[in-house]
Formats: sequence, C-alpha cells, structure tokens
Amino acid sequence: MLESKHADFLVIGGGSGGIASARRAAKYGAKVILVEFNRLGGLCVNNGCVPKKVCWNAAHILEGITLSKEYGFDTSASHTWATLKANRDAYIARLNGIYAKLLTNSGVEVIFGRARFVGPDIISVDDSLLITATNILIATGSQPRVLDIPGKEHFLTSDAFFALETLPSSALLIGSGYISCELACVFNTFGTKATIAMREDYPLIAYDREATTKLMEQMSKDGVTFLPSSNIVEIKKTDEGLHAFFDNGQNFVYEKIFLNIGRDAYVDDLNLEAAGVQMVGLRKIQVDEYEATTNPHIYAIGDVTKKLQLTPIAIAAGRKLAERLFNGQVDLKQDYTNVPAVIFTHPPLGTVGITEQQARAQYGDDNVKVYRSSFTNMFFALTEHKELTFMKLICVGPEERVVGLHGVGRGIDEMIQGFAVAVKMGATKRDFDNTVAIHPTASEEYVTMV
Ligand SMILES: Cc1cc2nc3c(=O)[nH]c(=O)nc-3n(C[C@H](O)[C@H](O)[C@H](O)COP(=O)(O)OP(=O)(O)OC[C@H]3O[C@@H](n4cnc5c(N)ncnc54)[C@H](O)[C@@H]3O)c2cc1C
Repeated sequence: MLESKHADFLVIGGGSGGIASARRAAKYGAKVILVEFNRLGGLCVNNGCVPKKVCWNAAHILEGITLSKEYGFDTSASHTWATLKANRDAYIARLNGIYAKLLTNSGVEVIFGRARFVGPDIISVDDSLLITATNILIATGSQPRVLDIPGKEHFLTSDAFFALETLPSSALLIGSGYISCELACVFNTFGTKATIAMREDYPLIAYDREATTKLMEQMSKDGVTFLPSSNIVEIKKTDEGLHAFFDNGQNFVYEKIFLNIGRDAYVDDLNLEAAGVQMVGLRKIQVDEYEATTNPHIYAIGDVTKKLQLTPIAIAAGRKLAERLFNGQVDLKQDYTNVPAVIFTHPPLGTVGITEQQARAQYGDDNVKVYRSSFTNMFFALTEHKELTFMKLICVGPEERVVGLHGVGRGIDEMIQGFAVAVKMGATKRDFDNTVAIHPTASEEYVTMV
C-alpha cells in the first residue's frame, strides 16, 4: 500500500512560477505541497536568466576593459572561463538553498521526485507516494525543441553552453531567437567565432523589425556572422570538426553547434490524459484566461503554456492564481499586454508594447506616428569602437498615445522598466515631452524626440 497525502494546492514544478504560486497560497493558510525532481529555482535560476546574466556581465566587463585604454587606463585582460563558471555555479547553488529555505519558511511542503497523474485529481511521485489535491497547478516549464536531421546527436542546447569549462574556437547557433543572439554575443566577446543560422533574413522576428535590424548591424560589425535563409539539414563529424550543411547549398565547419529553435512544454512525465488535460497541438498545455486547463481543477502557468515565456510572467500569473483560489480575489487574472522585456545582447535590446508592424496592422498607417533617434552614446566619444544607440516611440491616434517603445544600445536594459510604467499607464507623446530630460544620459532621448 502506497503512502498518501492530501493538499489543498498541489504544485508540480519548483521553478519560477511554481515557487511563487505555492508560497502565495501558503500565505493564506492553504496546505500546499510542491513536487520537484530537479534543483529548486527551475530554468531561470539553473540554466536560464541567472547564469546567462552572469555571462553577460562578464562580457560587459571585458568590453569595458578593452575600451578603457582610450580613457587613459593601462589595462589588459586575461580571463579564465573555468573560474567564471565555478563562481557562477557556486552562486546558483546558494540560490537553490535560498529557495528551499523560502519555501520551508512559507509553510510549503517540498517533495523531491517526479510527479505523474494517475487520475484527474491524484498524482504519484516516483511511484512511491500518492497525493490527492483539491487544486493542482502544472508549472513544469519547457524543454528545447528538437530537430530530426542526420547528425542530430551533435546538437547542444543552451544547458550545454552553461556547462562549458572552456570556450570553443567556433560555434554555430541554429535559430535566431533571443537565446541564440545572447549566446552569440557572449561567445563573440570572449573570442569564439560565433555564427547564427536563421530561417528568415533577420533575427528576433517577434520584435520590432527596425530595432532588430539595427541590432543585427551592430552585432555583425562587432564580429557575429549571420547566415540568412539557412536551414540546417545535416551535420557530419569530420577531422576538422562538425560539418554543417544547409538547404541553400552552403556548408561550414564548427567546433560546437547549439540548437535554439524554440522550447516546448515539458510534459513528458505527466501522463496528462489521466488528468483530462489537453494540449494545444503538440507543444503547449491549453489554458483559458484564468490559467485553467481543460480540467477545471487543474491549472497551468509559465513556459508549459502558450503564453509569454518569461520568468516575471510565470511568477505574476502564479501569484494571481493563488490570490484567486485562496484569497477570494475571484476576478484576478494576469494581463499579458505591455509586458516589457530585454534581450541581453551586446548591445542590449529593450522593448515594451507593440511593434511598428503590429501598430500599423492594428490601427492603420494614417493613425500611427513613429519617432526615432539614432546616435552614438557619449560613452564611446573617446573610443575608436563606436556602438549605435537606436530608440523608437510608436504613437497612435490624435492624442499620440505611446503604444510601443523600443531601443537598442548601451544601458537600454536598465531604462525600459521605468518607461514600461508610463506605457502601461497610457502615457502620450505629450507626457513624454513634458518630462524634463536627465542630462547627459542616453535615456533623455526618449523624452526629447521630435
Ligand atoms: C538560456 C535562457 C535564458 C533565459 N533568460 C531569461 C531572461 O533573461 N528573462 C526572463 O524573464 N526569462 C528568461 N528565460 C526564460 C525563463 O527561464 C522561463 O520563462 C521561466 O523559467 C519559466 O518558469 P516556469 O516556472 O514556467 O518553468 P521552470 O522554471 O522551467 O520550472 C519548471 C520546473 O518543473 C520541474 N518539473 C518538470 N516536470 C516535472 C515533474 N513531472 N515532476 C516534478 N517536477 C517537474 C522542472 O524540473 C523545473 O524545475 C530564459 C530561458 C533560457 C533557456
């Protein structure tokens, strides 16, 4: 006879969304059990945002050292990737411990093991424990999409990037989403010859085309190679390295090849049929605006759904769900509009609201007015290396409401959050004009565009 437990709220997955939702539910007195088979913190902490940002910081420091000579410094840089990795891993291990403490202190019972549905409101953990629950949250995240081509065994994922003890001399990144772009920039800064193979002619197709074109120009100038309209069809291992063949007849040799063509729901172990939970196609769990699946007592949030794949979104949706279920806020749901985001490339790209393409399609050309500014950040005034800053406001209607704000350039990563508040509140161009600039900064351009 298996041991069994009951919870008011059973959370499957101890990543960004699951932890946030579990803790919020426990705060209102719910009996909460969280099941996780891996390290606490999920993708963001272990193989996503956190190690990525540490690498981005390292590349940023190296750029600074390289440019410092023209500022009068007598500097040179020698870098040991293995030290960076060891210190980064130690930081992540500390975070794993912090999450464990936070959950325990919140009153959440954490059980380590793999959850699998054995009925609509019951799961087994590693086939050794049964848990029944009144409400269940699936927050099991995502896994890299695979590509079934000859030589596919040579593909690495972003997880493998974070496991690198030394950097390769060359790397091919398949797919032109943010993961490829970010990893390419870190590689490039540290001297690995980085190439991005894209299906389209430009990267980051979900983002504002003009902004991504400017980013691609700067990345190319800095040394990243883009292969447009290039779909990989085969990899052969040869004495020279990994030989990549593309559908347009091109072929090149690389030391490592990373596949970043998207991430699908991680539901392999869940046995969703037993729970009556349906997928949208093969890739994501179907949920409504209240994050309910096709089983009304089972919810899903974060990367496992087809909504935005961002840590703060998983956290916010998870907390709102807990507020709704356990704090009587019956109408509370996550708003997925005007979500700000940053791509940590070199230089970074930041965005909030809709793109120019979307604005023109939604409001019509006559109702859209675009303000833009291109300049070299004053940081590069003394340096031979110049880096573009590009900023753009998309306004609609006679009142010129700002519906999109985009930018590429040094410091954009820390600018967008504040402007996102203004966009979310419905600020107009006049509100921007009425805001006094901070001088001398790059961000002042956002309030002085004509
Ligand atoms: C390289 C990279 C960089 C990124 N950078 C950013 C960034 O800068 N900013 C940003 O906002 N987002 C970023 N993301 C995305 C972000 O990491 C995810 O959107 C976020 O982690 C999703 O949270 P989640 O709770 O849905 O899933 P996860 O954090 O993935 O958590 C899911 C958890 O469920 C567990 N699990 C799965 N199946 C089971 C099971 N059957 N039983 C028990 N446990 C299970 C998993 O082990 C995992 O711990 C990045 C992602 C990647 C890959």
